[in-house]
Amino acid sequence: MEQSDEADTVRALGDLLAAQKQAYLRDGPPDLGARLSRLKALRGAIIARRSALEDAVMADFGHRPVAETALMEVLPACETIRYLVRHLRRFMAPQRRHVGWAFQAGRARIEYQPLGVVGVIAPWNYPVSLALTPLATAIAAGNRVMLKPSEFTPHTSAALKTLLADVFAQDEVTVVTGGSDVAKAFAALPFDHLLFTGSTQVGRSIMKAASENLVPVTLELGGKSPAIIEPGAVNDRTVSSIAYGKLANAGQTCIAPDYVLVHEDDRLSFVRRYGETVARLFPDGSASRDYAAIINDRHHARLRGLLEDAEDRGATVTRLGPALDESENAGRKLDPYLLLGVDDGMQVMRDEIFGPLLPVVTYRGMEDAIAYVNGRPRPLALYFFGEARGEACRQVRAQTTSGNLGINATLLHFAQEDLPFGGVGESGIGAYHGIEGFRRLSHAKGVYAQGRLNLASLVRPPYGWLARLVLM
Ligand code: NAD
Repeated sequence: MEQSDEADTVRALGDLLAAQKQAYLRDGPPDLGARLSRLKALRGAIIARRSALEDAVMADFGHRPVAETALMEVLPACETIRYLVRHLRRFMAPQRRHVGWAFQAGRARIEYQPLGVVGVIAPWNYPVSLALTPLATAIAAGNRVMLKPSEFTPHTSAALKTLLADVFAQDEVTVVTGGSDVAKAFAALPFDHLLFTGSTQVGRSIMKAASENLVPVTLELGGKSPAIIEPGAVNDRTVSSIAYGKLANAGQTCIAPDYVLVHEDDRLSFVRRYGETVARLFPDGSASRDYAAIINDRHHARLRGLLEDAEDRGATVTRLGPALDESENAGRKLDPYLLLGVDDGMQVMRDEIFGPLLPVVTYRGMEDAIAYVNGRPRPLALYFFGEARGEACRQVRAQTTSGNLGINATLLHFAQEDLPFGGVGESGIGAYHGIEGFRRLSHAKGVYAQGRLNLASLVRPPYGWLARLVLM
């Protein structure tokens, strides 16, 4: 975007927000029927424009398997909408609450109100689903939405802009594109709520900017998500799930297993099976058709830097791909790598990897593995592989804290519509999906209605026996 366009967009932001807020006040909160028809229209438009979205993602990544975009972007967005449509009546229903004896015969209930205008900031790694899923949740909760996609995915942003303009008036949903000036100005707007998906580092500035206007935030952040394999549980099922979770979208997934914790006696078995599994999934290494490219040169160089730093500091770095010169691979492809002998001094063990590199950390007892996880920031996802009803799993469940826990499967918890998805500590604040998402983007208004006969209303000065009775 040209510098002058960027400045124009920044100047227009306040008016766009004001128009949405005015429209919300003018039209009032949408009823169930209006919300359902908006959601259905959105789902219809996604399905109708599915191939345009897939082409746009392909153009942004250079290469991203169409099946991955279909399965991990289009399908989840459509499924979320389908789920919301099916359950919205129940989500919106007021809830009766208990009234104490002294306030009988009053009535108390919670009414779920829209917040008003929700700002959504999306990242580049799943640019369709991580824009449309929060947007659909906000619509279900009766809000209007301003969406800012990532500047790294301009084709997808343009496709989303067209799609959303077909379905919604500008004062219902609007897409704002631009670079870092637009992003900063967007985060500083006085929304009724701001939902940000992105890195922990940027999440800190988002929260700071939002705090100026006391805008509540939901922060869907990243970090290092570990996979713990119970002693003796290295088998094909375990390794295949870890390899898939790691290498889908070439590792550019917020809930990809970042590193694996393996019992020291199982290390060699894991290394052998991981190599075999990767060769089976991607016979031509990064040149395989089903293997995505790295989003841009900066991230490609960053990942190469992690490998070099680890090697310089004594890690054993193994490239898992046929003996091709990587420079021959099309675009910004990077083969899968396995890293052994890693330590905390290496950048690869300090930063979120967000690429196809898998460090292997060994442990002696389950307590050590748990202590390793607990000695680091709380992860977005934690994976456990082994006996789901066994003692090791029980220990991991009870003694670790993570946004979500996946047992014997990577990534799939994200697809559970009825489970909250989000982080904890440095991996995020708040969650969406399911009823938690609806409530996150609604105001739960407590309403108390006094009955005609009400003991409490008889309590007035000068206080007498009745006040003493109420105090008992
Ligand atoms: P990022 O934090 O660099 O950018 C995310 C969005 O924030 C983009 O739209 C960007 O334009 C915008 N942005 C950047 N700087 C900003 C600023 N100062 N003010 C306001 N907006 C700003 O993240 P990314 O590189 O796009 O995505 C990768 C990160 O996102 C990883 O850390 C990953 O783990 C995380 N992530 C988290 C989830 C989740 O659901 N928890 C999902 C996907 C990605």
